[in-house]
Amino acid sequence: MKELNQLIRDNVRKMKPYSSARDEFHGEASVYLDANENPFNSPYNRYPDPLQWKVKEKIAKLKGVRKESILLGNGSDEPIDLLIRAFCEPGKDAITSITPSYGMYEVSAEVNNVEFRKVPLTADFELNASELLRTAGTDSKLIYLCSPNNPTGNNLSRREIYNVLNTFDGLVVVDEAYIDFSSEPSFLTELDKHPTLVVLQTFSKAWGAAAVRLGMAFASPEIIGVLNKIKYPYNINQLTQEYALKLFAEEAKMKEQLVCILKGRTDLERGLRELPCVKKIYPSDANFVLVRVSDANGIYNRLVDKGIIVRNRTNVTLCEGCLRITVGTEDENKQLLNELQMIEL
Ligand SMILES: *Cc1c(COP(=O)(O)O)cnc(C)c1O
Repeated sequence: MKELNQLIRDNVRKMKPYSSARDEFHGEASVYLDANENPFNSPYNRYPDPLQWKVKEKIAKLKGVRKESILLGNGSDEPIDLLIRAFCEPGKDAITSITPSYGMYEVSAEVNNVEFRKVPLTADFELNASELLRTAGTDSKLIYLCSPNNPTGNNLSRREIYNVLNTFDGLVVVDEAYIDFSSEPSFLTELDKHPTLVVLQTFSKAWGAAAVRLGMAFASPEIIGVLNKIKYPYNINQLTQEYALKLFAEEAKMKEQLVCILKGRTDLERGLRELPCVKKIYPSDANFVLVRVSDANGIYNRLVDKGIIVRNRTNVTLCEGCLRITVGTEDENKQLLNELQMIEL
């Protein structure tokens, strides 16, 4: 395995991070004249904590990780991009991932002019570690995996993920945006054993806070330190930090919603199974189901006409004829099933 220092881009390793007023003075004082803030309009006149320690303390307790192992971002999209900028030399290094999967890995790679390689999953959406590793070669710095995977909904095989973790020379990112819906445990417990592992989670799905834009990256304190060095100093605003603390105080509500969504998924799957236009329902460990239908484009358009929007994935690798349907409320799921019921074929 390579040392972290060999993986970091040269310019990032050598650079000195921006030092803000809030970085230089820690602690409580009564008069703050160090940051050119307006003294009125408290509390939003003050710059927020650049490292969001109050929020991280809660997350650390909740997830059983050290707070130094957490980076918060503007959605998961921010750490996805930060990792590339910290570790991949544009025009030289590569990133390897799977297909079909979440589109942002490739978009971020392209924005950063980093070659993006993708290895198709098997027909039943399983990861083939040896093929992935062969494609990654020696010039990939990052591997992006997503489990449960979007848009397929399944967990990737743990054995294959371990295979990648134990063999790959760079960082292995496991995106767990849907982990709260999953029957399998998170890879967070593997952080101490695997110094090259990065786990991504988000407040956008189970926590019901997609509009707030708050994502989490978990990794060794060394990796988190590198990301902290290159992030915007105040990347998480005060309103978001306060909202996150409010969410934790209402964790029970989230758990109730989770139970409801999982029951909704079972009911939706049962309803879909009886419809003539549904050819296959893929097993899901997420809050959506991927469904192969008789005519994806036709059915998609018909649903749009009725004011019901699903995700048409028919043009995505291995997803021909498929729609991705998010589990809604009981009433929303019923409306969808009622409309589908009326489709012949
Ligand atoms: C929805 C989703 C996310 C969440 O992204 P945010 O920027 O946190 O909203 C991350 N990864 C995958 C695979 C997703 O489907």
